[in-house]
Amino acid sequence: MIILKSERELQYLYDAGQIVAKTHQEVAKAVQPGVTTLELDRLAEEYILKCQAKPVFKGYYGFTGSICTSINEEVVHGIPSLRQLKFGDIISIDIGAVINGFVGDAAVTLPVGEIDEEAQQLIEVTKNSLAEGIKQAVVKNRLSDISHAIQTYVESNGFSVVQDFVGHGVGRAMHEEPQIPNFGPPGRGPRLKSGMTLAIEPMVNVGTYEVETLLDNWTVVTKDKKRSAHFEHSIAITDDGPWILTK
Ligand code: MG
Repeated sequence: MIILKSERELQYLYDAGQIVAKTHQEVAKAVQPGVTTLELDRLAEEYILKCQAKPVFKGYYGFTGSICTSINEEVVHGIPSLRQLKFGDIISIDIGAVINGFVGDAAVTLPVGEIDEEAQQLIEVTKNSLAEGIKQAVVKNRLSDISHAIQTYVESNGFSVVQDFVGHGVGRAMHEEPQIPNFGPPGRGPRLKSGMTLAIEPMVNVGTYEVETLLDNWTVVTKDKKRSAHFEHSIAITDDGPWILTK
């Protein structure tokens, strides 16, 4: 069942989303060659706690980090560690926070120092594909109009869309219905209604769309070890159009 939120609940979701957005800003400032992903994790956790919120990922099925840090061929769910960022890497950072019982969830991919042209394009296309998806998040469209817009944009730019992981509804729980694939034909699935709140999150690969999970049971990597990027916003569908809660 898709849970529709009241005005008041949307405000709570916005508050959570703003903490996530500000945490992203803080972490982004620290992204540079030599910093470890664990340092980024600590920084994020401290900031979230300072906002009287809690990191949602920590302890989720035993996940040890407060954020996910996925470098280069890592797609999502990378575990913060003593690994240092290197000049030319790209890092996807996923942050979730809960406050007043409501969750915000957002991800970005950032360059570490100067990156090559392919990585720049990958980041740009992934970010734009999220924007294309959000444009379709309007009343009376169907859910898969979002999916289709993302896939079409990504593939027309020569990259591929991950299919094994998808976006999701967001609210009191980090993962609510519906699932939101980043691929597929338009015009399918539930009709979008005011009060729906969705975490839309394209994961885009340079090479094959196929991914696998490492032996740590978390880190998802591309099968061909080519790079991947990830952008995510939590949004609300309103009568006035999509409202980005995590911007
Ligand atoms: Mg998410």
